Amino acid sequence: MSSIIHHSVCPACSSSLINPVLSAKDYTVSEEMFSIWHCDACSLRFTQDIPDIHSIGKYYQSVNYVSHSDTKEGLVNRLYHLVRNYTLINKFKLILHVTGIGTGNLLDIGAGTGAFANTIKQKGWRVTGLEPDLTARNQAKNNYGLILEIPDYINNLPHNSFDAITLWHVLEHVHDLDGYWKHFIELLNNNGKLVIAVPNYTSSDAKLYKAAWAAYDVPRHLYHFSPASLEKLGLKYGFSLKSIYPMWFDSFYVSMLSEQYKKSKIKLVAAFLVGLWSNLVTIFNKRKCSSVIYIFEKKIN
Ligand SMILES: [Zn+2]
Repeated sequence: MSSIIHHSVCPACSSSLINPVLSAKDYTVSEEMFSIWHCDACSLRFTQDIPDIHSIGKYYQSVNYVSHSDTKEGLVNRLYHLVRNYTLINKFKLILHVTGIGTGNLLDIGAGTGAFANTIKQKGWRVTGLEPDLTARNQAKNNYGLILEIPDYINNLPHNSFDAITLWHVLEHVHDLDGYWKHFIELLNNNGKLVIAVPNYTSSDAKLYKAAWAAYDVPRHLYHFSPASLEKLGLKYGFSLKSIYPMWFDSFYVSMLSEQYKKSKIKLVAAFLVGLWSNLVTIFNKRKCSSVIYIFEKKIN
């Protein structure tokens, strides 16, 4: 049985108008090269010849993979955690704003170590968190007393029961894209909001760094979304795109990592300038931000 998946059509829209555009390196774990392909029909980019769900685990084994680690050592990590507390509150405020309700029922897919799920639970929301990584689930339990479930638990959840489903930098990691979108439409209630944050390869920083852009993050990122490709994907499953929000800090963070990969000697200054420039462009066009939060709602027929 092969452990490599070769896409012969686009994994989002099934078009066969797909071609290689970049070769990117796995800088954080394996140092292996992966090919990134582009779909001419929907503008999705995707990592080609990816490890399947049973063999991708080893590409997550890294001390550098900060989203799974709660270490507060080192300047970049300290900065990350400082900003994270600020962004957690902002994410909570965003949920209140887009759902228009004070408390409700939320499903967080790819909950990591539970920081966001815990924040919203503290504010009185009911929360179900799904997380594939055992170490991360244990940390959520130890840090917050929060019980996260394995991803398959999604099959046990009642339909039309959630006011919001959140995926913070998660959709680009899931093998079964089709399966998740079918769950989204079933699980959300009629006023429910689907909140998806993903990197944007059409951003200014992505265009500048090309294959060294840190948010390609191959092979962990299976898909590289443009705003147009994600909007089209949502439509396919019965969603309309309601609004989008920029993630201002991601421009700086991704630029910092990209400068490290390029082995730049002036990385702090360069990353700051690129992040600033990317955000200035974003002020005039939200679709140019390094990472974007997309708010989807059920299409009214
Ligand atoms: Zn496509």
